[in-house]
Amino acid sequence: MYKVTIGLEVHCEVKTNSKNFSSAKNAYSEYPNENVSVVDLGLPGILPVANKEAFRKSLLMALALNCKTPDIVMFDRKNYYYPDLPKGYQITQETKPVGVNGYVMINVDGEDKKIGINNIHLEEDTASLDHFKDYSLIDYNRAGVPLLETVTEPCMHSSTEAIAFLEALKGIFLYTGVSEARTDKGQMRVDVNISLSKDDTLGTRTEMKNINSFNSVRLAIETEIKRQKEVLENGGVILQETRRFDEDTLTTHSLRSKVDAVDYKYYIEPNIPPIKITDEWIDEIKSEIPMLQFDRINKYMEVYGLSRYDSEILVKDKAVSDYFEECVFIGCNPKSISNWITTSVLGYLNKNELDIKDLSLTPKMLCELIDMVDNNKISSKQSKEVFSKCLEENKEPNIVVKELGLTQITDDKTIRDIVTKLLDERPDLIEDHRKGKNTFDYFVGQVMKETRGKANPVLTRDIINEEMEKR
Ligand code: ADP
Ligand code: MG
Repeated sequence: MYKVTIGLEVHCEVKTNSKNFSSAKNAYSEYPNENVSVVDLGLPGILPVANKEAFRKSLLMALALNCKTPDIVMFDRKNYYYPDLPKGYQITQETKPVGVNGYVMINVDGEDKKIGINNIHLEEDTASLDHFKDYSLIDYNRAGVPLLETVTEPCMHSSTEAIAFLEALKGIFLYTGVSEARTDKGQMRVDVNISLSKDDTLGTRTEMKNINSFNSVRLAIETEIKRQKEVLENGGVILQETRRFDEDTLTTHSLRSKVDAVDYKYYIEPNIPPIKITDEWIDEIKSEIPMLQFDRINKYMEVYGLSRYDSEILVKDKAVSDYFEECVFIGCNPKSISNWITTSVLGYLNKNELDIKDLSLTPKMLCELIDMVDNNKISSKQSKEVFSKCLEENKEPNIVVKELGLTQITDDKTIRDIVTKLLDERPDLIEDHRKGKNTFDYFVGQVMKETRGKANPVLTRDIINEEMEKR
């Protein structure tokens, strides 16, 4: 049996107005080379200017990942040549990254696990290259976009753990607003490092770069584990190398050896002065971090008695989770709200491809509706009708209930009078009932018919039972 070890390097674009070191727009554009400045092109004599917002968001992320932050942060030059890097170097952080020694909590199959973060550093994205048959095109729109790289410790042991970590990390990016973390737009890209060993010492790792969907990460991990196992079982050795994952054939192929990897000749970027981080700044940023998914899930389970399954659904989107919490704050029963949100609300939003922010039903209105059901004013079946009508017509639940004339009859005497009358009319059916024939439902049906479905069903059944017993 081999022990699998996985370490991830995750690149994620930071959401800012302008690029990391220039004033060009940080935005997607349908037109290539639209958001480009001379700084992004690396023309002679350019001077980079650090983007405060990108830096603040990086610090925020470092703190959200429980990292230690240094007093002084610096940038470094990583020197290499590639067509997508016109300056001939990338500005990154090697000596003093924004965060080191942090962790992210994940839960896999009900068990909590701490994933160590080695460091998180701010750098700049490269241009993008489009390769065609005998030529390539280059688009500098992406060049210089702020990019945060999160490097984990080699501490994950299965693809399931790796995906749980990526989901958790993505959640933190979204909850803090540091990034939109859209894998479909290439905003979040993953380098996967994998090794196998027979004991606790780490085996030789291979690396697969720039995988940009979580499902591909899972497949790449499983494919490479299988390959390494086969090599080792056949008496071979694993070479330290960068490999390419081919998703179509589920194979990995050697690209280049990492043993004699390039020396990037790092040195401190001389054009960006060191940035001092004060305690006040740290405190201010810390106070902006909302409660994150992992803690919210535990709170929902422990304080509100929800299942892990429901809690995980509720926290997936922060806006939904905030909506839920506002309902709880208003004083509505957490389990009832959870049921409503996870079924009717999310069902409606999914069906209509809407965001909870577009929902005309406010937390207060939803609580009103839930109250009416809990207090037997309307049946749960009727409440679904009210819910739909509220959304369709943009109206408050109590108004819809009035308009539909839905208020339930919960008055004992009113129902009892009807039941008594019905039983008087059909003594033959009471007799049948005694003989074991089911005529009970007939009476329930008649009560509903007379009240046009407004009689409270539970109360109706109780009263029919009682009145039949008396005869
Ligand atoms: P590089 O710059 O060559 O990618 P790093 O030191 O930045 O090297 O490490 C990259 C990643 O490799 C980290 O996420 C780390 O956890 C992972 N890693 C290091 N050694 C191993 C190993 N033996 N098995 C699996 N992952 C490893
Ligand atoms: Mg690497």
